[in-house]
Amino acid sequence: MYIIGKEEIEAVTQVIEGGHLDRYIDDDNSVTSQFERGLSEKIGISHTIAVSSGTAALICGLAGMNIGPGDEVIIPAFTYIATALAVLAVGAIPVLAEIDETLTIDPLDVENKITSNTRAIIPVHMLGLPCNMSAIVALAKKYNLKVLEDAAQSCGGSYRGQRLGSIGDAGIFSFNHYKILSCGEGGALLTNNNAIYQRAMLHHDGGCIFEKNHPNFQFPIFAGWNFRISEILSAILRVQLNRLDGILAALRIDKHLLTNEISNISPAFSLNPVHDLGGDCATTLCLSFKSGKKAKQFIAQAAQEGMDVWSPLDRIGHVYTDWKPIFDEQKVHHPKSGGFRIVSERFKNLEDVCPKTLSILNQLACISTDLNRSKEDRSKFVTSFKKAIK
Ligand SMILES: *Cc1c(COP(=O)(O)O)cnc(C)c1O
Repeated sequence: MYIIGKEEIEAVTQVIEGGHLDRYIDDDNSVTSQFERGLSEKIGISHTIAVSSGTAALICGLAGMNIGPGDEVIIPAFTYIATALAVLAVGAIPVLAEIDETLTIDPLDVENKITSNTRAIIPVHMLGLPCNMSAIVALAKKYNLKVLEDAAQSCGGSYRGQRLGSIGDAGIFSFNHYKILSCGEGGALLTNNNAIYQRAMLHHDGGCIFEKNHPNFQFPIFAGWNFRISEILSAILRVQLNRLDGILAALRIDKHLLTNEISNISPAFSLNPVHDLGGDCATTLCLSFKSGKKAKQFIAQAAQEGMDVWSPLDRIGHVYTDWKPIFDEQKVHHPKSGGFRIVSERFKNLEDVCPKTLSILNQLACISTDLNRSKEDRSKFVTSFKKAIK
């Protein structure tokens, strides 16, 4: 969450005073529908479904693609655990692929991981950084796979002129507290595909048992869950959407200015390459050091200078080796519901599954951009940076 203010309070007040808190009072004019139309327009897509979380959006997207037991879905080894959990939730098997120096999924390794059971790829636009979507879409075409873009951390970003989330068969955003737009907890699924849209609607709303809410659906009904969003949260999101361009512009200016100031200070680090610099959401500035030890030293020095520099390996649940519920327990809520399989038995050690990912992340030091950084703060930052890098 970057900005929240009295506009959001007023929007929430209006919904509460209106006295109807779920979207199905009048579908076309609910605040939720208005938000969905606004987001569709902003991203350039025909259908948006606002849901209760980014995880829910991933689950609905996979259900929309008819992915289930026995199917394999390729995901990057560097992503928040929710990407893997969503695949498990529909009964499918997440298969890990390496990232490359761009910190996004490596298309070459994706191709290595394709089997006759592979049904989909989930490229994750991590830290606001766009994936190599042309390579991924080409692979998907070649092997007849679906692409579900996880743009949870990258709302508003783009790749070669197309907004992230609108390039694959479907895409998702998260609106939890830590994301670019936020309502506390929330998410959205976006697609141009009518079948994915209708199936995802069924899945998100109890199989759409109330037909009046979903007239003209052509697909056979199946049982779904409840991943609906409330009007209160949609009211916040509708205001947040108006803030998106301003947030991205400010983050991009901060990243640009910081980059200019520090890029030639020292040969000790390099900046990670980005697939489409103009489309980067600029939430994060990533420095790659020559070794993990050097990166750790810099992070420690920076902390002494009062700077907040972090390693992606220290962010809980953001790299596969830290997916404890999946790898340590391998089971869901009830013992009789059985376990699941995520990596092949070939690997005895988790560290051997995606070693390149671990090594790239180990050498990284990250700085979050700040849309309120003043000129003075910036020069303080540069002074501290120079001290820490010595
Ligand atoms: C936050 C996040 C999610 C899940 O979103 P929630 O709204 O927390 O369910 C999924 N994928 C990635 C990459 C995320 O960062």
